[in-house]
Amino acid sequence: MLFADIIIDISVKSLDRPFQYRVPEELEGLIETGSLVTVPFGSNNRRLKGYVVGFSDTPAFELPKIKSITGIEKQGITAESHLLSLAGWIKENYGASMNDAIKAVMPVKREIKERVKKTVFPLAGREKMEEMAAAFESRNNTARARVLRLFAGLNEDIYYNGVDYSYITKELKCQKAVLDSLEQMGIIKTCRTRQYRNPVNQGFTGGERHILNEEQRHITDTFLSEYAKGIRKTYLIHGVTGSGKTEVYMDIIEGVLSYGKQVIVLIPEIALTFQTADRFYKRFGERVSVIHSRLSAGERYDQFLRAKEGLVDIIAGPRSALFIPFKNLGLIVVDEEHETSYQNETPPKYHAREVAVHRAVMAGASVVLGSATPSLEAYYRAKKGEYSLFTLKNRAGGAKLPKVHIADLREEFKNRNYSMFSRKLKELITIRLERHEQVIIFINRRGYAGFVSCRKCGKAIGCPHCSLSLKPHMHKGVIDRLKCHFCGYEAPVPSCCPSCGSKYIGTFGIGTQQVEEAVKNMFPGARILRMDADTTSGKEGHGKILSQFANGEADILIGTQMVVKGHDFPNVTLTGIIAADLSLNAGDYRAAERTYQLIAQAAGRAGRGDKYGETVLQTYQPGHYSIVCAARQDYESFYKQEISVREMLQYPPVSNILGILVFSVNEESALKLAVAVAEIAGQYNTVTVLGPADAPVAKAKDIYRKMVYGKCTDYKTLCSIKDFIEAFKEQDTEYKDCGINFEFNFS
Ligand code: ADP
Ligand code: ZN
Ligand code: ZN
Repeated sequence: MLFADIIIDISVKSLDRPFQYRVPEELEGLIETGSLVTVPFGSNNRRLKGYVVGFSDTPAFELPKIKSITGIEKQGITAESHLLSLAGWIKENYGASMNDAIKAVMPVKREIKERVKKTVFPLAGREKMEEMAAAFESRNNTARARVLRLFAGLNEDIYYNGVDYSYITKELKCQKAVLDSLEQMGIIKTCRTRQYRNPVNQGFTGGERHILNEEQRHITDTFLSEYAKGIRKTYLIHGVTGSGKTEVYMDIIEGVLSYGKQVIVLIPEIALTFQTADRFYKRFGERVSVIHSRLSAGERYDQFLRAKEGLVDIIAGPRSALFIPFKNLGLIVVDEEHETSYQNETPPKYHAREVAVHRAVMAGASVVLGSATPSLEAYYRAKKGEYSLFTLKNRAGGAKLPKVHIADLREEFKNRNYSMFSRKLKELITIRLERHEQVIIFINRRGYAGFVSCRKCGKAIGCPHCSLSLKPHMHKGVIDRLKCHFCGYEAPVPSCCPSCGSKYIGTFGIGTQQVEEAVKNMFPGARILRMDADTTSGKEGHGKILSQFANGEADILIGTQMVVKGHDFPNVTLTGIIAADLSLNAGDYRAAERTYQLIAQAAGRAGRGDKYGETVLQTYQPGHYSIVCAARQDYESFYKQEISVREMLQYPPVSNILGILVFSVNEESALKLAVAVAEIAGQYNTVTVLGPADAPVAKAKDIYRKMVYGKCTDYKTLCSIKDFIEAFKEQDTEYKDCGINFEFNFS
């Protein structure tokens, strides 16, 4: 008798373990590890789905109590066994449930109906067709005659290639019955072939190929000679913006493909997928594809299948592209590895860079990380020799790094400049408009968003369910409503302050719309594009704005973080950073790192072509080391100062942090469990415990949230604390109304 261990698809933490079921005889041989099956579950035998994670010959308990698998889920996709092991690793290292981990490694979960292309082939020669056409015509069978004449009129070279079925039905207006009868007569034959949906813009090939400069070639030579020797490891390319990292990736990829291997290219944003995919497509043609959440279900499924069947060699896409089921993976490239979007924000809260490194180890592949502003994690490991470090110090093709001007906003204020633009920025924009060069204006909104507050008592208007301020929503330039971004609560703007009754209520902070208004007023003739969450919804959102800007349809592009990420616009010679230090107030241990990255990246958008670029960096804290170093594009100095702060405070990457979130509708029980959790963690003498304290969002959707942090240099110790706490909570019925979530090295 055969038994299967099954992870049930249910989001109840206590049920997150394998359950044993009998494999009925008729399903033996059909079910494999990774199969999605349906099973009866619980006392009422509710029908649930689950993934098979293993088999055994021996029952784990009394035979009559073991239920049988009901069937195999019809459109379910089998999880590859190497991806199941990866899911197990994610569960272990990030404190997720196995069910969530399996879902994460299965970006495509069900089959989508295939799309077929029908082609009609002639079964007789051209002369015979002509003859038969005449015969049909004489009998007034004009539809049949039209089909045969079409064939008779074809060029000899393409005659046996066949004709598109839909062309005949639509253009020649012949019904299916006509084609069926011709087929029955043995004159033609219709063939169906699967046609994969292809989301990549096709048609451009033969992209120009640069001869790599010496710095670039050093990297490709070293990588490929090590690869040839069978060395597999992780490399970090630290290359200034525009240093030609993408060109380096492409040469490395070409080398890896020559071994018959496959390549995953991770890209931080969907917005960048288009530009990168185009470049790859031009170089590598048909065997490149993309996968991301804006594709239709059918497109996504087909890319998954093409990858699985070995019909593509390179897949590019955001985070989830990491789980493409390539059978012969040779390389994972993580472009802009420092980007926050590589952090998965819902459980399992894995980091794609770390998972990439692990998947590569499992598959015997190498990893190439690239960034102009490496994460402290990657650089720290490279310095320790865990990763190989390469540096590209110069821009490729001879372009110079831009000159950065720091505009001290306190000085501007003293000089009675109350607008959001410093005199320097205004002056330089004017020059660009005269010269018909382009400008990017970047608003650093990370860790910050506008809010509405009382000018008299200073209180921000907050959500009654969450301890968060409500965000103003604009409509045609005026504040329309206030919304809670966490729970969705909505209210009109109150006419007086709920705390003190004063009538002076206003907004603070600047959004992209306000900047757009201000630019319009100051430069009435300028053509402006705005790129933010509001203007980029829909499948083509980003792509459209970016290509309009690239085509020179606008002079100024205004936007949030998404405008500074990796784009390459040769005619942009000025970038303006409206308030560079806003992100310093984000209140987490990565604030300085993020600020450095955003400024260096924003500056990096200017002067990428043959024209010289400039950047104006507006700030209230011109002396902060992240701002000073970013203005000089001096990563090494920044790293030295920042890593010493991390060392002093025992923050990652020097140490590790486990964040334990305890939540409950009952504040008292949340606190009680948090105290117990802190005690457990405190029993490990290598661990420093902080808390319990209110979480940054102390109350959300009427649920109270407490945080406990544990710091330890050994990651595995933190994993075992997590396991211990989970088991503890499981046993103790006192905490039934509480939940716990774990976060590793989160900021
Ligand atoms: P990065 O990815 O580091 O930002 P890219 O690969 O996008 O840099 O290269 C920046 C620009 O320099 C691109 O326009 C690219 O075509 C060009 N480029 C890259 N390598 C070379 C080279 N060896 N010679 C000339 N131009 C190059
Ligand atoms: Zn007030
Ligand atoms: Zn709320």
